[in-house]
Amino acid sequence: MDGYQPVKAGAHVLPALPYAYNALEPVIDEKTLRIHHDLHHKKYVDDLNKAELALVAARGAGNYDYIKYWENELAFNGSGHILHSVYWRIMCPPGSGGAPGEYTARYLDWYFGSFENFKAQFTAAANAVEGSGWTILGYNTAFFRLEVLQAEKHQNLTQWGIIPILVCDVWEHAYYLKYQNRRADYVNAWWGLVDWREVEERFVNAGRGVMLLDK
Ligand code: FE
Repeated sequence: MDGYQPVKAGAHVLPALPYAYNALEPVIDEKTLRIHHDLHHKKYVDDLNKAELALVAARGAGNYDYIKYWENELAFNGSGHILHSVYWRIMCPPGSGGAPGEYTARYLDWYFGSFENFKAQFTAAANAVEGSGWTILGYNTAFFRLEVLQAEKHQNLTQWGIIPILVCDVWEHAYYLKYQNRRADYVNAWWGLVDWREVEERFVNAGRGVMLLDK
């Protein structure tokens, strides 16, 4: 599509952070970012590759004895890789993200009634995720519009066809060192990190059916 090359089975790579590890201080501390990106995200990439290659082997052998296991691994690690890739890119140093772009602002107004309505729903959804998970503003390619959804863990409760463009990681590993049990404080502060130019670009690309993980 549009000259983008499909990723071969087992060929996913961990995208580099688009800023320094301490660039999101004081909202997200350097140590959390290092652990989150270098260890957690890397494991999703490694295990996604492993699952895809195991399925290449399974297809070759015509042996699907472990299909449930590998399909679960595909969903869990594939979703983890995709959502973290978006999460890194929709953030930027505090205060440098600007305001919602024209395209994003217009559609948020049209569907949610106002930017404040959207922000209130997104925040409430983030705070109410049961256990570990995400809240996602996504463009649904079936409905041709944005929606706010929760994802438990990250492979459950997904809506087929969604392209995440603004995501907030509310797994404890994203904030626990600094915020402990005060997830609401983290979510509140997190808003100050959003790079709205990146969100706008993601929305424009999503409208074309494209979700870029790296550049
Ligand atoms: Fe995470």
